[in-house]
Amino acid sequence: MKVVIVGGVAGGATTATRLRRLDENAEIILFERGEHISFANCGLPYYIGNIIKDENDLLVQTPEKFKERFNIDVRIKQEVIRIDRNNKKVEIKKKDTGETYFETYDKLVLSPGAEPINPFKDVKSDRIFTIRNVNDAEKVKAFIKSNNPKSAVIVGGGYIGVEMAENLSEYNMEVSIVEKAPHLISIIDNDIAHFVHKEVKKHGVKLYLNQGVNKIEEQEKLVLTLDNEKIETDLVILCIGVRPESNLAKEAGLTLNEKGAIIVNSKMQTSDENIYALGDAVEVQNIITGARSGIALAGPANRQARTVANNIEGITSTYDGFIGSSILKVFNYSLGIVGLSERVCQTLKIPYKIMIISPYSHATYYPGAKMLTIKAIYNSETSQILGAYIWGKASVDKITDILSIAIQTKMKAADLSALELCYAPPFSSAKSPVNILGNAIENEINDLVDTISVEELRNEEKPYILDVRTIEEYNLSHIDGAINIPLDELRENLKKLDKSKEIVVHCHSGLRSYLACRILKQKGYNVKNLIGGYIMYDIMKND
Ligand code: FAD
Repeated sequence: MKVVIVGGVAGGATTATRLRRLDENAEIILFERGEHISFANCGLPYYIGNIIKDENDLLVQTPEKFKERFNIDVRIKQEVIRIDRNNKKVEIKKKDTGETYFETYDKLVLSPGAEPINPFKDVKSDRIFTIRNVNDAEKVKAFIKSNNPKSAVIVGGGYIGVEMAENLSEYNMEVSIVEKAPHLISIIDNDIAHFVHKEVKKHGVKLYLNQGVNKIEEQEKLVLTLDNEKIETDLVILCIGVRPESNLAKEAGLTLNEKGAIIVNSKMQTSDENIYALGDAVEVQNIITGARSGIALAGPANRQARTVANNIEGITSTYDGFIGSSILKVFNYSLGIVGLSERVCQTLKIPYKIMIISPYSHATYYPGAKMLTIKAIYNSETSQILGAYIWGKASVDKITDILSIAIQTKMKAADLSALELCYAPPFSSAKSPVNILGNAIENEINDLVDTISVEELRNEEKPYILDVRTIEEYNLSHIDGAINIPLDELRENLKKLDKSKEIVVHCHSGLRSYLACRILKQKGYNVKNLIGGYIMYDIMKND
């Protein structure tokens, strides 16, 4: 068996090593047109910010180590430029000499990745950058070192844009993000984006939202023409998104989708059964919605690599799709994202409701507990968990992973309530945040409490609002027009409330107001608990 692999990073290198573990006799040739294989692209922003100091730490494997340990023939600085499917061979061009040659294959694996979108390729400037590989990161670092820029604009406020903003803030420069969507990380819900905005602004990052960059001019500084204004900067990083590198596949006549992603079956085979493809270059299925799209994340690429190698070696194996589990560091916070957003549910007309809770990462009597905000999107007819966001300073990755499993296994609210999770005071609470989330949704589903979101509250004309926080909390700041009866004084003051009206009850996070709702509902009042409480109201009030 002779396997030729195109692309030597996440998908390609992982396929190669799995193949070797399965088949000691296979001939495996890995082509990478760049200088490095198996490097940590995900670490590049942190290398630019000097959190990762040594370039070598980014190089998970070298061609020499690949040869020594796995007996894989790695050929760097060699680009596969053509596939001859009829004769099962590829043409390769050596970068240093321009010389070309052919290599035959029994099976061909394409993991060419995706290239950063750059609409400003025609602008002649040495201070506009994209970030894909170690050389790109080196270029940014070298530019900063020799030019000492005082300002940087990041175009595109997605995951990489936000990571770049944080890392450039490590230098003494003014950092801005221009984002065409109304908020950063455009795929997330608007309410959660407010937490991200607050944190990046707190660290001095300036935001230009709802604005695209229409033109970049190289003058004394770089001048960016946005939709409504012009801004100047010393350095631009384009983080607008990526496009599948599928030219090779296209020219070979393999089937692509309208966005240029290679179409594969669940065994990761392309329209040619002897050619497999994976990673950022392919179209795969969202397992919740069934919709097909690309997913430019390292985890899926690694799992697809195992599927590819298994199938090549005769072990039937499928990659069934993704749900989009991801996590992002935003300065001192983390944001976990998993499953469907409200917007996707609306587009697909999936009946849904939301729940937002703010539990602590671990028992509050043990030092260091941090408040989390967890938002779940669930099917309002079945209570199945469809999506979640987790924002906080601790345990975010753990809770995101648990909810990712919950979504993949189609758990409902009651399943979350029933989950047995580990506990000791330094780590969690006897009722873990995930159990609490399940309980809160169950309470709503079982009609123990009705809820209202901040967005729904805003659409209400003259809402009747009861704030059950303490007088001190109320005096610090409160919703205009809200009356204050602290929870512990509620039973004695019921007469002060108008029974004929719908009462929106809130506290800081939603827990005390839930208790208030239970008292009031049982006494015949028409009450709704404000989802996420004053925390959500406050974070969204500047919208
Ligand atoms: P790549 O890893 O990009 O590898 C493709 C390789 O193929 C490239 O090195 C390219 O040079 C080579 N190649 C292409 N065409 C040819 C050819 N014709 N001949 C020879 N070689 C060729 N994902 C996460 O899950 N979490 C993160 O935190 C995260 N952070 C990221 C940060 C940055 C800055 C970047 C750029 C990406 C990040 N990603 C992250 C995405 C993740 O790195 C990719 O999803 C993953 O690397 C995709 O693997 P791949 O094998 O498809 O492509």
